[in-house]
Amino acid sequence: MQVRIRLHQLYAQLQAPQLFAGKKILVLAPHPDDEVFGCGGALIKHVQAGHEIQVVYLTSGEQGIAGKMPTETIEIREREAQNALEIMGIPAKNAFFFRGPDGALHDKMAEMLQKTQQVLQNFQPDLIYLPSFLDRHADHFTANRLLQAALVKNVQVAAYEIWTPHIPNRLIDISRQIAIKQKAMQAYASQLAQLDYEAALLGLNRYRGGMYTNPEVVYAEAYMYLRSDVYFAEMPASY
Ligand SMILES: [Zn+2]
Repeated sequence: MQVRIRLHQLYAQLQAPQLFAGKKILVLAPHPDDEVFGCGGALIKHVQAGHEIQVVYLTSGEQGIAGKMPTETIEIREREAQNALEIMGIPAKNAFFFRGPDGALHDKMAEMLQKTQQVLQNFQPDLIYLPSFLDRHADHFTANRLLQAALVKNVQVAAYEIWTPHIPNRLIDISRQIAIKQKAMQAYASQLAQLDYEAALLGLNRYRGGMYTNPEVVYAEAYMYLRSDVYFAEMPASY
């Protein structure tokens, strides 16, 4: 029997655990920066707890620097990603760059699927972070379609928010990690030059922390934390 939830009721189930269960953590980042902007605080906590993290960058964001050639942009953004991971304490060998087409990820679905399945099979993660299917970006939605197609068994997913605030059922307090998260954000200088993501995402994290009833929580990340089949049952059919 398929279990269904109602997205608008998630907030009624709001809890704020120290961190999600899981020691083998996979992160799907459609672009270099999503892993920091969306779930960097939680990832720093996983590192501090000694958990293993692997990060898949589905694209290298080659459309993401105005006026620069894609080849040069790929080089810049992958270097920024390596620096951001180092700041968070994630080894460079745990990063995978799939180099799918930025802005048109769905055009390379078969190739992305095969590569994602390979990582899942090799790593066997017990928790997967990905952008929420409500996030208003086509590649972020495609990342959801991709994971849904790649999974052969249920796993816990923690969907993060970047472009579109969602209705969360979990908050992770990142008040003690925010300084490192901010430093990791600053590693993405090419992106901060396009838009003031640093102020925007710090603001979102401050809002999430500030609206929680515990005054000791200052900064927080908000997640839709669900078993994969329950989560994907709510996904819209198309972007
Ligand atoms: Zn993105």
